[in-house]
Amino acid sequence: LAPSLMANYCTELHDDQANKVDKYLHSLLLSDETLMELSIRFRREMDKGLCRDTNPTAAVKMLPTFVRSTPDGTEQGEFLTLDLGGSNFRVLLVKVVGNGKQKVEIENQIYAIPEHLMRGCGAKLFDHIADCLSDFLEKMGIKDKKLPLGFTFSFPCQQTKLDESVLMSWTKGFKSSGVEGKDVVNLLRKSIKKRGDFDIDIVAVINDTVGTMMTCGYDDQHCEIGLIVGTGTNACYMEQMRNLEVLDGDEGRMCVNTEWGAFGDDGALEDLRTDIDREIDAGSLNTGKQLFEKMISGMYMGEMVRLILVRMTKEQLLFQGKTTAELLTTGSFNSKYIYAIDSDKDDEGLTSAEKVLRGLSLDPSVEDCIATQRVCQIVSTRAAHLCAATLVAVLRQIRDNKAAEKLRTTIGVDGSVYKNHPEFSRRLHKMVRRLVPDCDVRFLQSQDGSGKGAAMVTAVAYRLAAQHAE
Ligand code: BGC
Ligand code: MG
Repeated sequence: LAPSLMANYCTELHDDQANKVDKYLHSLLLSDETLMELSIRFRREMDKGLCRDTNPTAAVKMLPTFVRSTPDGTEQGEFLTLDLGGSNFRVLLVKVVGNGKQKVEIENQIYAIPEHLMRGCGAKLFDHIADCLSDFLEKMGIKDKKLPLGFTFSFPCQQTKLDESVLMSWTKGFKSSGVEGKDVVNLLRKSIKKRGDFDIDIVAVINDTVGTMMTCGYDDQHCEIGLIVGTGTNACYMEQMRNLEVLDGDEGRMCVNTEWGAFGDDGALEDLRTDIDREIDAGSLNTGKQLFEKMISGMYMGEMVRLILVRMTKEQLLFQGKTTAELLTTGSFNSKYIYAIDSDKDDEGLTSAEKVLRGLSLDPSVEDCIATQRVCQIVSTRAAHLCAATLVAVLRQIRDNKAAEKLRTTIGVDGSVYKNHPEFSRRLHKMVRRLVPDCDVRFLQSQDGSGKGAAMVTAVAYRLAAQHAE
């Protein structure tokens, strides 16, 4: 074939395959109208969580964080941070140099959490955390200092103050026993005391969304929203105290952790959830919970693509109807594969598709590769658009709170999907701007949000305590 004919043939082939997949996955393609309706629906869920009477039965918990102000740049000191609940467990030493210079120095160390601890005995998990902390202090040569510590614990927690945080339920890959219903600060203190070789001052427990907002807030004073799209998904934002009915007091603002991953846990998303979503949920560690999160986040995205490929193969639409043991293995399609396949540089994406599929012992045709790429595109685009819908609800809430015609605001963002998927952020931004054209939104990717952020919260708490003491 002449090159031009070849190109035509490829476009046609591409369109044919794309159409085939689109038809098969039509229930994953969401119109702007549907997304707008979803956004309004989520705004009602937020209200339900905020109001005293409806909060106890609300799926979206809208948790108070006791973080009342974002950094003002004068914070300083040396802080320890633990970061548990993302793709890595880390211990950090953060030095904040104040005086308007806004300089932050970080030393950090990643530690493994073996699976038997993630899903085993809770006391052992906290003993392990204390062991890692001890090892880190030893390495840094600061075991004799009693430093303030901020704990980024990225799970839904009921807080009554900054340094008391009761785990409501594990999410993502964690399910260790005897922690739900307990104060994680207390558990950590116990494990540290048992070791007896060092002492620290646990000042704050924060969610990773809060850490992300605070980190970005250090660089951009307009930042009042924190967003995570990684292993899990969630957002927080600065809410007016008067709207936060579950707490007394009407003055000022407080950061609210929405825990939007639980959107739909009361049945509110049944019209949008598909057979695939139900299959993902059934095979998860927390069936019936975090239903919105399971439609979006990195922990489930690859598995969703795998389940679709399996179904399409069984219906003779792919791989000549032949599955392989690898394709049929739970977890064999890593979300990272999607980042490589769903690339706007088509050739690169298709080459990756072929490589990944061969890695699963399949023998894909060009058509199979194109179709697989389309599946990845549809799954991750839906995720970006679902996030856009809930984010827009948060933006409208803030705009209404300020009674502003046009809102100008900054969203701090972090998470492996947002950072590593080549198209996710662009699709998210585009849809947000389409759904709220009257908001001027800046997305700011946080550098080390959950680690630095806990130090920021601790630093702000220290600054405020010092002011009160004066
Ligand atoms: C947790 C949130 C967290 C999010 C992102 C969710 O599973 O419930 O607390 O912010 O993951 O890490
Ligand atoms: Mg994180």
